[in-house]
Amino acid sequence: MNLGDEANTPNTIVNLDQVKQLNSATIYKVIEQHAPISRVKIAKVSSLAPASVTKITRQLMENGLISEVDLQVSTGGRRAISLAPNAHNINVIAIKLGQSLLSIAHYKLSGEKLLSKQISVPVVTESSSLIEFFISEIAKFITQPALINEKISAISMTISGLVNPKTGTVIYHSTSPLNNTPLVKEIQQAFNIPTFIGNHTRCLALAEHYFGATRQCQDSILVSVHHGVGSGVIMEGKVLLGKSCNIGELGHIQINPLGKQCHCGNIGCLETEVSDNAIFDKVKAAIAAGSPTSLSTSNFTIDDIYLSAANKDPLCQAIVQQAATYLGKSIAILVNLLSPEKIVITGKIVLSGDLIFDTIKQCTDTQTLPDFHHQLSVIPTELTPDLTLAAFALIKQAIYEGDLLQRIKV
Ligand SMILES: [Zn+2]
Repeated sequence: MNLGDEANTPNTIVNLDQVKQLNSATIYKVIEQHAPISRVKIAKVSSLAPASVTKITRQLMENGLISEVDLQVSTGGRRAISLAPNAHNINVIAIKLGQSLLSIAHYKLSGEKLLSKQISVPVVTESSSLIEFFISEIAKFITQPALINEKISAISMTISGLVNPKTGTVIYHSTSPLNNTPLVKEIQQAFNIPTFIGNHTRCLALAEHYFGATRQCQDSILVSVHHGVGSGVIMEGKVLLGKSCNIGELGHIQINPLGKQCHCGNIGCLETEVSDNAIFDKVKAAIAAGSPTSLSTSNFTIDDIYLSAANKDPLCQAIVQQAATYLGKSIAILVNLLSPEKIVITGKIVLSGDLIFDTIKQCTDTQTLPDFHHQLSVIPTELTPDLTLAAFALIKQAIYEGDLLQRIKV
């Protein structure tokens, strides 16, 4: 075998379909960002040849993805026809599989959320029963009166666990029998609609990048504290997945070698100390041991704990600050490795306000390279809580970076 040829093959073969896909996506994105926009301006902004712009915009129009909207007077006095996306005519379904709830929502590709529903997930031992449940609930959702006459162009689902978005497989899910299940294949076969799957936190990082705090930022990390701790890394504007497809499992950094056993099998993982449940349990134990607090000791929620910490309740403040120190230490490791511009924190923990952000910043200021922390900001999410927005972001990614644009015909 000629090693030189082998080494060159992936870069030298020009896959025309991929080029076409990439150019279409570039043009669609330009239209979306600058609409209404003329073909001449699209060519300028995208740096593509006017002939390519004409050809690709014709195809996008034929498939119903864009349309001519109005006449715009150009600087030379000639009237040019403008183009705009037809995103308000394209329907997609975004789903989140939570620990015990399945959330399903109908969005327009423009981002408008029209309908949503939450259903309790049955406790089952076979993955086939769970797949049957998903298919039956999706079928009920898309055949309700408001949707039955609408064409659905994509379905996506996010899951808190390890997934391979490239093969559409759930690799590991701690609270269901979905391990090693080819979920995309099953749903796609049932509905004949392009289907996508992703890790919830990674897709939330994508949502933050498309619609939230990291819109103008190429390198960022979203850290989510919920029933566990996870992160999604955006590098050069794209979610970092790697070959394993699961980069960002921050919750399993060992933070307390003498701590509790984690569900992953190891001892003292970050999420055994910092998750909502872990913080709730610590406060409960401290109250039982007689620690004074302003909380109503018989009936309080995790929200109450975070808000009381912000209001300087000594018990809640001490426990949340310790959690923030652990979190800050782990985030400092990420900053040293990846040098992001922004760290975005999401989850109810942000209710603790400055206590969380000041503690984390103190850790990154003292535990990372000066060049890295001088340019770093640690900020809360800008997204309003929406369980299915991460799955919607996954569909946007499939439009911008995958072949979904080629598969939509309205
Ligand atoms: Zn673990």
